[in-house]
Parts: sequence; C-alpha cells; structure tokens
Amino acid sequence: MNLHPVSTFKAPKGTYDLIPPDSAAFLAVREAISAPLRRSGYGYIETPGFENVELFSRGVGESTDIVTKEMYTLTTKGGDELALRPEGTASVLRAALEANLHRGGLPVKLWYSGSYYRYERPQKGRYRHFSQVGAEALGAEDPALDAELIILAHDAYRSLGLRNFRILLNSLGDKECRPAYRAALQDFLRGLDLDDETRRRIDINPLRVLDDKRDAVQQQLVGAPMLRDHLCEACKEYHERVRELLTAAGVAFEDDEKLVRGLDYYTRTTFEFVHDGLGSQSAVGGGGRYDGLSEMIGGPELPSVGWALGVDRTVLALRAEGVELELPAATEVFAVPLGEEARRALFTVVTELRRAGVAADFAYGGKGLKNAMKSANRSGARYAVVAGERDLAEGVVQLKDLESGEQAPVAFDTVVSELLAKRG
Ligand code: AMP
Repeated sequence: MNLHPVSTFKAPKGTYDLIPPDSAAFLAVREAISAPLRRSGYGYIETPGFENVELFSRGVGESTDIVTKEMYTLTTKGGDELALRPEGTASVLRAALEANLHRGGLPVKLWYSGSYYRYERPQKGRYRHFSQVGAEALGAEDPALDAELIILAHDAYRSLGLRNFRILLNSLGDKECRPAYRAALQDFLRGLDLDDETRRRIDINPLRVLDDKRDAVQQQLVGAPMLRDHLCEACKEYHERVRELLTAAGVAFEDDEKLVRGLDYYTRTTFEFVHDGLGSQSAVGGGGRYDGLSEMIGGPELPSVGWALGVDRTVLALRAEGVELELPAATEVFAVPLGEEARRALFTVVTELRRAGVAADFAYGGKGLKNAMKSANRSGARYAVVAGERDLAEGVVQLKDLESGEQAPVAFDTVVSELLAKRG
C-alpha cells in the first residue's frame, strides 16, 4: 500500500477535524454537560443545521455582529434565503412553537447538542465551525429556573474537573425599565469621543458599547449610567432571588454590571462562564433570560431562559488546567490470531466479548505476531488473547496481561468468562 499521496484538500479556514484520540475528550465533554440536564427534566431536541435567515435576523437581532457580519447565508436553487445556524436558541424556540410544545405543561425544558457556524476571524478558541451543548427552559418566569440552569452548568464543569472558571452575573432589566436606561446611556455615550462605527452602535445597540474591550473606550465609560441603578422593583427583586438561590446552592458568582453579551434577545438575568486560562477568548459558555424572543419571532408571550456552553473552549479549558479526563478504555481486549484457523476462532471470541459489553478489537489484515502485538499495545488494551494452531489443538488460548507482561494459557471455552471476571 502506498500511503504517501495525501489529499490536496484541507479543512476550511477556521475549522478543524475531531480525530482520535483527541476526539474522545469532546464526546466526554458533551456527555458531562448533558448528563445534569437529562437528570433535571430536560428533553433532547434536534433542529436542522440551517433555518430561514429571517429567524436569526429577527431573533438574534439586526444590530448584532452575529447577524450583520458572521452569518453564513445562502439562497437555494428554489429561491429560499437560508442561514447556517449561528446559535441554538432561536431554532429551539421556533421548533417548540411549531410543535405546540408550549400548549402542554410549562416550562418546556429542552437540551441540544450540535454544530454552529459563524464567519469570524479565526484564532485560538474562535472558529467558524464550533460545537455547543445548550439548554432552554421555555414559558416560565421563575428565578428558580434561572438559578437551576446556572447551577447545572456549574455542576457540569465541576464534574469534568474544571476549577478555574468564574461566573459573571448581571441583570439587563425588562421592557419596563430598560427603555429609560437605554435613553440615559445614549445621552451619556453621545458626549464621548468615539469612532464612527461605535457611534452608530449608540443608536442601534448602546448597551453593547459597555462591552467594548478597547481601553480608550473603557476609560471614557467611567461614570456611565449603570443599569443596576435603573432596574425597576420587579427586576431588582427577581435578580435578588436568583442570587440568593445560587448562594444557597454554594455556587459562587461575580456581579458584573457591564456584562451585556452579543445577542439582542436577553432580558433580566444574563450570565457568562469565563475561564482564566484561555486568553482573549475566555468565555466558555453563557446565557440568560429572553422574555421577549417568542413574540419577536411571531409567537405568544413566552418568558424563557437558557444557555449554551462551547464544547471546543471547554476542551481547551481542560487542557489549560491540565485536567486528564478519566475516559473508558477504547479497547480492553485485543485478539491476536496466528494462522487462518486461529483467525476464525478468535473472531468468534471477539464477537462474544463485544456482545457481553467488553470493548474488544482484532488484528486485521493478516499481520505477523510482532506487528499484531504492536497494534495490541497501541490499542491501549489491558489484555491480549493470542492463539496459534498449536494452542487451538490443545484447546487453549494465551491470555497476556499487557501491563505486567504475564502470559498464561486459558481454556478456549472459558476465555470470555475469565475476561469478564477479571474485569469485575
Ligand atoms: P454565544 O452563543 O456567543 O453566547 O456563545 C456561547 C458559547 O459558545 C461561548 O461561550 C463559546 O464557548 C462558544 N462559542 C461561540 N462562538 C464561538 C466560536 N466562534 N468558536 C468557538 N466557540 C464559540
């Protein structure tokens, strides 16, 4: 086999492939994030990878970077205007409304996992194709629901062994108190020395200016009106309840009155999980309440809350902390047959092991003993089952412990039960 020519194609800019062995960590992260959700009444939902473009322009917001700069849009041959999904919430809400889930008991609690696409400037932790696990609780205005979601994300990160993450928490107010605050902030911002693009932002989305990372902007923001001082009583009360519930659950958080986030639909509770080992792309996940989104996309009033955690950045955070996940062995037993008769016999052993739930693999391709043992070691298996014609004639196979190097004959008929017993 000539293995030299490689494909001239590469993964598109800003994307990368998940390949073994590293891909195992991604699966483990998805599993760890979804496990607490599945234990908490969240049902699995899957929506298409693309949607009508208007769902996002209306839902995520015409003024956001995601919609104006980062969406992959396309016109189909039939003339439909579609966009690859840049985030999950709008799609999940669209699907729930379409299926009338909200006419059953509320809240409707859903979780999802999938690929998302944003045309961003690629850098470490920022890709054009990335992976999120998300959760949405639709149709209830209850601080316990906001707290539940934050606690579940916190517990998921902890269960992975992450320690150096922080939770930033803020309230963005609601339709009662935000308009007056927005106007006060606009007045303040109009008096500052800002570039044209930022000036335009004052009109369309002034809260985003608070989030500007540039020092020159931040210095001028000292003394800006803060939403905290403009929250109405109902929002204040709601936020206080969320904070109390988090504290009672032992979940530490930092009040961050500048936390705005890049999507327009948020109201009241907003939060972000940041990891300090990631450099500039430090947000590993985030979310918040979006009480007006359903109406924005033509649905009924449906106050809701949700989050999305980035799988790619969570894996980077694990690496930054040097956390080694305890992954189940990909292969526990590796079969090494010597000769045709042994191949047939050991292949049945491998099938039996697999049916009994043991991860087993086989030296395919007629390899000699040396190469086959190399494959066995590479597989990470603890045991090798080796057999040649003489062994079979004696009704045995050789069971080799690849850790200690010890090897002993075992009756062919009992090798499966023996391996199952060793495994405990
Ligand atoms: P957002 O939908 O922007 O709130 O993002 C939620 C999470 O998704 C972030 O905290 C990141 O972990 C992840 N994420 C968002 N955009 C990207 C990207 N371009 N590349 C990798 N991860 C991303």
